[in-house]
Amino acid sequence: MLPEYVVNCPICGARITAPYDPKAVEAALRSPDGLYITTLKCPNGHYVLIAIDKDGVIRRIDAERGAGGRPDCEVVKPLDFLPAPIRQRVLDALQTGDFRGVEKIVEDLRRAGVIRCL
Ligand SMILES: [Zn+2]
Repeated sequence: MLPEYVVNCPICGARITAPYDPKAVEAALRSPDGLYITTLKCPNGHYVLIAIDKDGVIRRIDAERGAGGRPDCEVVKPLDFLPAPIRQRVLDALQTGDFRGVEKIVEDLRRAGVIRCL
């Protein structure tokens, strides 16, 4: 069992730690899709959704968005291997849905499994 979770904010890349919560595993076991979704807050004020499975493993990390509907693409792995300015542009594109100028990068990330698109 992990003592705590460490995730990177999908919006700004900041490190977020959250205590391991045994209730999350119980909730995942009861959930029809086997996942427990919870919200963390990053140090810069972003809200981040994480999906925890019955083994207590984080399966999905996503920026929480407003009521504007589902994004077409989501980040499924940390982007911190990207240079910060590029990472920001990619994250902005994912948030706004405006991929102009980053189509190539986003496509590469999608192929690499870092971003998942519907
Ligand atoms: Zn953040």
